[in-house]
Amino acid sequence: MSDMTGPADLEIFQERLRTFIFDTIPAALAGVVGEVPRGLAFRGALHGAGLAGLTVPTRFGGQGLGPEFEQAYAQVAANRAMVDDKMFFLGINVILQSLIDLEETALATEFGPRMLRGDTIACQLFSEPEAGSDLASVRTKAVRTEGGWILDGQKVWTSYGHIAGIGLLLARTDPTVAKHRGLTMFLIDMDADGVEVRPLRQMTGESEFNEVFLGGAFVPDNRVVGGVGTGWSTTLTVLGHERLAVAKAGENTVRRPLPMARIVESVADGGNLDALLDAWMDERTASLVSRQIARRAQAGIPLGPETSLGKLLRTRNGLRAAKLAAEYSFDGGLAWNPGSRDQDLAFEILNAPGMAMGGGTDDIQRNTIGERILGLPREPLVKEGNTSK
Ligand SMILES: Cc1cc2nc3c(=O)[nH]c(=O)nc-3n(C[C@H](O)[C@H](O)[C@H](O)COP(=O)(O)OP(=O)(O)OC[C@H]3O[C@@H](n4cnc5c(N)ncnc54)[C@H](O)[C@@H]3O)c2cc1C
Repeated sequence: MSDMTGPADLEIFQERLRTFIFDTIPAALAGVVGEVPRGLAFRGALHGAGLAGLTVPTRFGGQGLGPEFEQAYAQVAANRAMVDDKMFFLGINVILQSLIDLEETALATEFGPRMLRGDTIACQLFSEPEAGSDLASVRTKAVRTEGGWILDGQKVWTSYGHIAGIGLLLARTDPTVAKHRGLTMFLIDMDADGVEVRPLRQMTGESEFNEVFLGGAFVPDNRVVGGVGTGWSTTLTVLGHERLAVAKAGENTVRRPLPMARIVESVADGGNLDALLDAWMDERTASLVSRQIARRAQAGIPLGPETSLGKLLRTRNGLRAAKLAAEYSFDGGLAWNPGSRDQDLAFEILNAPGMAMGGGTDDIQRNTIGERILGLPREPLVKEGNTSK
C-alpha cells in the first residue's frame, strides 16, 4: 500500500478501506468501546490489512502515505461502529511521532513496528500529583549511575500504564538549575524492577488511568530521549503531537455519539435544531483546522501553538456533542445495558470531560492561544500564599 500517492490511488484506497471496514472485520470487532482483548484483535486485523500507521514512514513500519489517506480512513471509519483501539493512541500518534521528530531513529526503528503491529503499548508518564498543567515542576528525579539512571518518584493519570510495555517519562536530572532546564525525557520499560502500577477507576467504569510509583527503577543511557537536560523542549514536541492527535481524533465528534434516528425524530418533534446545526458547523471548522495543521506537519513545518487551537476546538465540540447526545438519547446517558449500543453512547458522554483535560486542560490551551497566537500579555502567576499576583 505504501506506493500510493495520487488522487486515483486515494479512490482505490477508499474502496479497499470500505471492504475492510464493512466486510472484512468481523462483527465481533464492531461496537462497544474500551475492551483490551478486542482492541488488540482489531489492531492485528488493521496491521494485517496494511492499514496500520498510514502516515508513518515505511522505515518505521508504517505505510508512508499523506494526511489525506488518514482523513479518508477517519471518514469511512466514522460510518461504522468499531472497536476503539485507543490503547494504542498515545504510542502511535504521539510517542512514535515524537521519536521521529526528535530524530531518535534507533528508538523509532525499534519500537515503531512493534507499536503498529500492536505488540507494544506505550504510555506517557508526565503528570504528577503536584505537576499536571505546570509540567516544569515535576519532582520525579533521575540520578546518574553506571550505564544509565536511577529513577524515584510518582506519576499519576497514566493512561494504559497497566498494559504498557514502555513509557515516555519526564524526570528532573538537575535540581540545581532553573526548573525548565533541569529536565530529561526517558523511555522506560514498564516491567522494570522498581516500577509499580496501580489502576484508578474512572466514571466511564474503566480503569484506563493509573498511578505509577518509581522506586529505584533503572533506565539505560540509550533510552534517554532528546538528550540530557533537553526535557522541556522534548515535552513541548510531545505535547504538540498530543494536541494534534486529539484534534484529529474525533473526525466525527458530533456524528459518532449522536444516535441519528432519534435526533431526526426529535427535531421533527420541535427539538433543538439550532444547537445541532451549530455543533455540525463547529465540527466542520475543527476538521478543517486539524487537517491544515496535519498538512503543515507532514510538510516538515514544526508544530506550534496552533495545535492548542485544534485541540480546544475538538474538545469543545466533544463536550457539546456529549451534552446533545445525553439530551437526545436514552435516559440522559445515565443507564445502559452492557454490550449494547447505548454503552458506546454512554462512554462517549462520560469520556468527553476527560478528553478536555488530557493533554492539557482547555484553560491551558486558551492561555497558549492568547499568549502565543494573539500576542496577549502573559497570564499572571498566582502562587500559594500569595494572592497579590
Ligand atoms: C482522560 C485523561 C487522560 C490522561 N492521560 C494522561 C497520561 O497518559 N499521562 C499523563 O502524564 N497525564 C495524563 N493525564 C493528566 C492530564 O494531562 C492532567 O490532568 C492535566 O494536564 C491537568 O493537570 P492537573 O490534573 O494536575 O490539574 P491542575 O494543573 O492542578 O489544574 C487544575 C485546574 O486549574 C487550571 N489551571 C492550572 N494552571 C493554570 C494556568 N496557568 N492558567 C489557567 N488555568 C490553570 C486547570 O486548567 C484546571 O482547571 C490525563 C488526564 C485525563 C483527564
